[in-house]
Amino acid sequence: MKFIGKHGLPVFVIGNPVEHTFSPKIHNSAFEAAGLPHRYFALEVLEGELGYFVDWLSELEAPGANVTLPHKRSICSAIETKTSEVQRLGAANTIFRRRGELRLANTDVYGFRRLVEPWLELAREEGVLVLGAGGAARACLLALEQEDCESVCLWNRTTEKAEALAREFSSLSPEVIGQSKLESGSFDAKLVVNATSVGLDEGDPSLVSHDAVSPGMVGVDLIYNRRTRFLETFDRAGCDSRGGLDMLVYQAAKSWELWTEQEAPVEAMFEAARANL
Ligand code: NAP
Repeated sequence: MKFIGKHGLPVFVIGNPVEHTFSPKIHNSAFEAAGLPHRYFALEVLEGELGYFVDWLSELEAPGANVTLPHKRSICSAIETKTSEVQRLGAANTIFRRRGELRLANTDVYGFRRLVEPWLELAREEGVLVLGAGGAARACLLALEQEDCESVCLWNRTTEKAEALAREFSSLSPEVIGQSKLESGSFDAKLVVNATSVGLDEGDPSLVSHDAVSPGMVGVDLIYNRRTRFLETFDRAGCDSRGGLDMLVYQAAKSWELWTEQEAPVEAMFEAARANL
């Protein structure tokens, strides 16, 4: 099989559902800005179709793909060569090609590092609290480990999952805190990261109350589609706050660079993301 055409090579995002993703807007803007003829498509892939997709992608000689839910973990059994981050997390969001071979990367870790870059020193010196124990929280913990942030607290609705994650990231010795400590602000952290899906829907509450926020703290929410109540809680206390747009764009930029082996036009990607929010 060989892809023929003057429109360049196809790149995909695979998942189910994928109707509402605006990754095609971000990546196609980048291809256009860089003068590359590639095009990025959303492709619905059901769980039983993953192996077939990988074979097809390999034959097609396309640069790669993004992988989203529900395939981020299962793709790891379908492609052998993985970056150390994928090996560590057991989850990938990017397929890319090197020397003809398909490989897996996880660019969420890089995206998160870029998002919290302005406050890494604060996180190292004053600690960080991560809310959540799902895929995004795992990427956050790996990034914090890479950045030598050694004072980490973890909270999750299902405490057992936070405890399991703490065991997995024992190098950070995370302290798992319960609901009462979260509510009263009795945790050792100035940077607070919401890595849960609370806030995705309009009207969702803030997991951190006004009483738990004190001057000098910073709130970072991975959610990028709205100004969440979590962020508003930090705003009202006069603290810095930041939504997840930088993570979204920088993880996309890193994937794009793996496919094209050239520097991503990040500004064009930010513009496309902002225009489609
Ligand atoms: P996930 O694996 O499904 O994990 C969801 C997390 O949210 C779990 O910790 C879950 O707690 C918690 N949660 C769900 N409903 C809750 C509720 N009502 N109260 C308290 N906690 C609740 O999802 P994920 O992939 O980690 O994604 C989490 C968030 O990060 C999503 O909003 C996603 O959009 C965002 N994200 C953003 C970027 C970006 O580029 N900016 C990248 C990745 C993810 P339990 O364990 O108790 O169920």
